[in-house]
Amino acid sequence: MSRVTIKDKTFETSIPEAEILERVKQVADRINKDFEGKTPLFLAVLNGSFMFASDLMKQITIPCEISFVKLASYQGVTSTGTIKEIIGLNEDIRGREVIIVEDIVDTGATMKRMLETLGTREPAGLHIATLLLKPGKLTVPLNIEYAAMEIPNDFIVGYGLDYDQQGRNLRDIYTLVQE
Ligand code: 5GP
Ligand code: MG
Ligand code: MG
Repeated sequence: MSRVTIKDKTFETSIPEAEILERVKQVADRINKDFEGKTPLFLAVLNGSFMFASDLMKQITIPCEISFVKLASYQGVTSTGTIKEIIGLNEDIRGREVIIVEDIVDTGATMKRMLETLGTREPAGLHIATLLLKPGKLTVPLNIEYAAMEIPNDFIVGYGLDYDQQGRNLRDIYTLVQE
C-alpha cells in the first residue's frame, strides 16, 4: 500500500494500474460485441476521463470515432446543482450511436443532465461508459450500461481524476485517508 500527499490531503492506493487496465479491457470487449456492425461515436468528457478514454480506445476493435467535450458551469443553479453546459461538441450526433465516456458517476446528476441535453439532438442511442460508479451515492435513476468498476463512497484521485486539479497524472487510483 503506497501513500501520496496532494496539497493538504493523504491518499493511499486502492486500485492498482494493472487491475484498472483489466477492467477497462472487459468494458471494451463488451462494447466491441454490442456495437458490432455499427460505428459508434465516443464522446469523452474532459478533463477527468482522458486516461480512461485513451486506454479504452486502444482496446476498441470496431470502426468508431472519438471526440472530446467539456462541461462548463455557468451562472445559475437548479435543484440538482450548478447548471452545466456542454462545450466543444461539433459533431452532428443525429442518428448516431453515442457512447459517453465519463470518469466517475457519483450522484448521477451530471450524466442525467448530459443525457437530456444530447437527447434533444436525436441520436440513435445514448449510452454511458464510466470508469467508476459509486452505487451508494447514485440518487438519479440512470441506466449505466458500462461501468468498469464499482467503488464505495470514498473520495478518490488518480488515473485522470483530480483533487483540486492535482493527482490526475497518477497511474493508480488512490482513496482519501480519513484522518
Ligand atoms: P455527479 O454529478 O455524478 O454527482 O458527479 C460527477 C462528477 O463529480 C464527476 O464527473 C467528478 O468530476 C466528480 N466526482 C465525484 N466523485 C468523485 C471522486 O471520488 N473523486 C473525484 N476526483 N471526483 C469526483
Ligand atoms: Mg467527470
Ligand atoms: Mg474534479
